[in-house]
Amino acid sequence: MKLSDVKKYIADLFLPNRCPACSKVIPWDKTMCRKCREKLIVITDELCSVCGKSQCIDHSKLAFENCIALFYYEQPCINAIYALKYNKGSNFAEFSAGLLRTELENKNLIEKIDLVTCVPMSSKKLRKRKYNQSEMIAKCICEQIGKPLDTNLIVHADTLVDHHKLPKNEKADNAMSSFRIADDSKNLKGKTVLLCDDVYTTGSTMNACASCLKKLGAKSVIAAAIATTRHVEKRYDEES
Ligand SMILES: [Zn+2]
Ligand SMILES: [Zn+2]
Repeated sequence: MKLSDVKKYIADLFLPNRCPACSKVIPWDKTMCRKCREKLIVITDELCSVCGKSQCIDHSKLAFENCIALFYYEQPCINAIYALKYNKGSNFAEFSAGLLRTELENKNLIEKIDLVTCVPMSSKKLRKRKYNQSEMIAKCICEQIGKPLDTNLIVHADTLVDHHKLPKNEKADNAMSSFRIADDSKNLKGKTVLLCDDVYTTGSTMNACASCLKKLGAKSVIAAAIATTRHVEKRYDEES
């Protein structure tokens, strides 16, 4: 038995393992109940492999070369992402990382990836939440694909305006100014970076982070998210 499994087995004795989408108690070694798993349908084939949307957004404005997402941001995915963000459970990150690996394999992208990173969280939010769910996803993907994780590439420049309350056209500009290069001395020349986040909406956050990676010399950026919104206009209204 792996050490991580031993920990899970013991944790389950004190706090029963639960399905991230419906909260039903599930066996210690499962990440989701069967009912919820059956409702989650991978939609990768419906999405453009460049922009990650079913109806393309302007590719000329993208700082990433590929985008993959697994599910539409609808139930039961909404509940499962909420649990990932607030309940500290890694079940949905583990479950999704396995599926993201399969999608990366199907698109022959795994061998191209040199390192994995994630969308950073503002320090204020991190103090409140204690952890960054995007980093949790990135860690789980690293375990799946055996590539190194580097979370010291991009930082969130704590902004005064609440990003999600801005009108759509102002959102892109705000995202651009929300992220900065964490360490100028890093050199990503010739490297392909997998950039992870939980939900992909307008693409402005992924784009701003991909721009930072490009400034560090990255050759290519693959954006990966668990969920994508069906329409770009539909805003991700929950506090991210
Ligand atoms: Zn369930
Ligand atoms: Zn497209």
